[in-house]
Amino acid sequence: MSKTILLVEDEESLQFYLKSELSFENYVVIQCFNGKNALDLLEAQTYDLVILDWMLPERSGIDILRRLRRQGSNVPVIIMTARSEVDDKVMGLDSGANDYITKPFEIEELLARIRVLLRVAGTNQTDEYNYYDLIMNTKTHRVTLLNQPILLTQREFDLLNYLLRNKDVVVSRDEILDNVWGVDFSGQYNTVDVNIRHLRQKLYLPDRSYIQTERSLGYVLRVRFDG
Ligand code: CA
Repeated sequence: MSKTILLVEDEESLQFYLKSELSFENYVVIQCFNGKNALDLLEAQTYDLVILDWMLPERSGIDILRRLRRQGSNVPVIIMTARSEVDDKVMGLDSGANDYITKPFEIEELLARIRVLLRVAGTNQTDEYNYYDLIMNTKTHRVTLLNQPILLTQREFDLLNYLLRNKDVVVSRDEILDNVWGVDFSGQYNTVDVNIRHLRQKLYLPDRSYIQTERSLGYVLRVRFDG
């Protein structure tokens, strides 16, 4: 079945070029030219992926993205922008983007990134993970620990989701960055450690810990009872 992509881009020549290339690859493309319509379209139906320009009339791509994540949407989002500052990129990824592409880009690069995100989304069909009183529902975006709700940021949620999918497997910082932040994250190297620390604080129970550090290798989700 064809995947549906919402393409939000106000620059007409680029919009039509991308629409024709994506249609050629058998994606169903819904076109949108401004930020306000994007919000309406996102409320009207679900999409397999969203390509979101940063600078848009009426609402910025980042505003749209933040709102989408606040509402609990997991839809893969690629932010597209002419900016190339690292700070902007970090801001885009911190706002919940799955990937980021800087204009101008080769269409093949965009197509490759789309395929990666759709593949990741497709292999993650399970809605609920249940691991020693830690329950994560990826559809409702709800996480509970011993039946108590845990409030996570979008990034912490994605990180915990990644660790749960790989439970008992040690994952390196680079693997976490690639899978949770996007393929070419170039921010602070300790970003992963900081988010792991926050997750640990939120998953604190006196008798056990969930996330273990494997010295020089990375992290693993593996329960350890301490007493
Ligand atoms: Ca624009």
